[in-house]
Parts: sequence; C-alpha cells; structure tokens
Amino acid sequence: MVTKEIWNKYGVGNGMLCLECLQKRMGRPFRREDFPLIPINFENPFTRLIIFPSNEDNILLKKRMKEYDQAYLAAKEQRKINQLKRKEPYH
Ligand SMILES: [Zn+2]
Repeated sequence: MVTKEIWNKYGVGNGMLCLECLQKRMGRPFRREDFPLIPINFENPFTRLIIFPSNEDNILLKKRMKEYDQAYLAAKEQRKINQLKRKEPYH
C-alpha cells in the first residue's frame, strides 16, 4: 500500500492498480517514502524489498502493531457496550 499522497496523485480512486502499473503512472521508480510503515508493507516481499526495514523501523512497526491491537480491542469493547445498551428495556 502506497501513501495517500501517492495514491491521490497517481492512483485510480476506489479502483485497484498493481504496483507495476502504478509505478508507470508515477513515471519514476518507487522510493522508500512512497510506502507507509504499516504491517502489510512489511509482509509483501516486493514492498519489503523497497522499504528494507532497519532495526529502527522494526521497533517502530512493533509499536504501531501494538497500537493497532489496542485500537482493535477498544473497538471490540465499545461494540459490546453498545450491544448491552441496546438490550436494555425502555422506561
Ligand atoms: Zn498492472
């Protein structure tokens, strides 16, 4: 996944584009900064090669993943609360 800036400039809105085609539209090779440091970009072998995460990046990634986990758990908890509220009878 590329940054919002790159996608807004060279992407196809809600459509999809393979990296090769996107690179053609950009008219230059990808750079490290074109990809945000998010888990999916570290899992994809192609983008990982471009990003080539340093130890520092890996630490940052771990920290971000922890934040994602916390946000996910908070959302899950909120859903549970909302469900309980809905079950309460009207007075
Ligand atoms: Zn393509």
